Amino acid sequence: MIYLDHNATTRPCAEAIEEVQDALLTLWANPSSTHAAGQAARRALADARTRVASFLGCQGAELVFTSGATEANHMALLGGLAAGRTAGRNRLVLSSVEHPAQLTLAQRLRGEGVAVDLLPVQTDGSLDLAAAERLIGPDVALVSVMGANNETGVCMPVAALARLAQAAGALMHVDATQLAGKSELRFDASGADLWSVSAHKLHGPKGIGALVMRKGLALPALLSGRQERQRRGGTENLPGILGFAAAAERAALTLRADLAHLHELQQRLEQGLLALSPQVHVYGRSVARLPNTTCLRLGTLDADQVLSRLERAGVLASSGAACSAGGTQPSHVLLAMGEPADRAKAAIRLSTGRDTTVDDIERAIAAVRTALLPLLADATQATP
Ligand code: PMP
Repeated sequence: MIYLDHNATTRPCAEAIEEVQDALLTLWANPSSTHAAGQAARRALADARTRVASFLGCQGAELVFTSGATEANHMALLGGLAAGRTAGRNRLVLSSVEHPAQLTLAQRLRGEGVAVDLLPVQTDGSLDLAAAERLIGPDVALVSVMGANNETGVCMPVAALARLAQAAGALMHVDATQLAGKSELRFDASGADLWSVSAHKLHGPKGIGALVMRKGLALPALLSGRQERQRRGGTENLPGILGFAAAAERAALTLRADLAHLHELQQRLEQGLLALSPQVHVYGRSVARLPNTTCLRLGTLDADQVLSRLERAGVLASSGAACSAGGTQPSHVLLAMGEPADRAKAAIRLSTGRDTTVDDIERAIAAVRTALLPLLADATQATP
């Protein structure tokens, strides 16, 4: 099988598996216990915090471990809103292509009387900065955007938005989930106040992530309790946290080489696919994108059909967000880019990872040629 669904999740690396296993076997005491076993767990936790912080370019004290990016995003949105409200700010500004869970939460808050603005994107998937300039004003509590979109890989102008947010006195949150392992990460140089990350997109375990909170920022906790300096209650998921640290260190070790490799695979994949037929369309080619993500459609062949044919030919991929795949709803991201429903329902995503080989890419292109081009020809003939 050729796995081209790394934006949905990645295979845990050997280093992460080993640390998770070691932690389960030897570091299972509660880091809050005062006995020696608890204190050993506590030291491992402190050490892991430093390791993850070094990967993210933040301080250890700025890291709050969470169950993943969804929780971190909730904490940022709800906490940022609560902090803003004390200063009379009751507006949230998000992009229209955020993760579905984030948009659902924003929708819920809107129902509760919070003003929510969704920043539009252009046809190439890039954010409409002029709209951001208009909408980010003195009543905004928080601006929240993805660092890069999980479906198209298109990058958001985070630095420019952070400047606008800062000028308006609003907090800036970046859902950096899809950036980890695919770009150099430096929270301290990003201009943002809050970052969400998730280990399983980085060859780490699932169910563990973090919210980076700029030093000095105090947001109310979602889960009350003593842990994580009262910012996130609940016994720490030490195996997950150690697996996260191991995956982060492993990613940092070869990041430069991995980025070059991903870029080369992307070039090959897109050139190969575009050469197959003029009906192959790749989204966002002209703008800054993640080096591992190719969002495309073959005419208006339905994504579900395309994906099942590809799977039979040995290629695993997704349409849109994995979380909404399987439904017949067109991708909200493609709709936001102005695509009509039939095209939005045709979009699929191929996402590579550092273990993907050139041979995998050649075989994926061959699979599209043999399994899908005949369908495309039939569809063209059927069109009057
Ligand atoms: N944000 C983005 C951009 C994502 O791609 C994902 C994963 N699909 C999430 C948030 C949710 O992450 P998690 O699975 O860790 O909750």
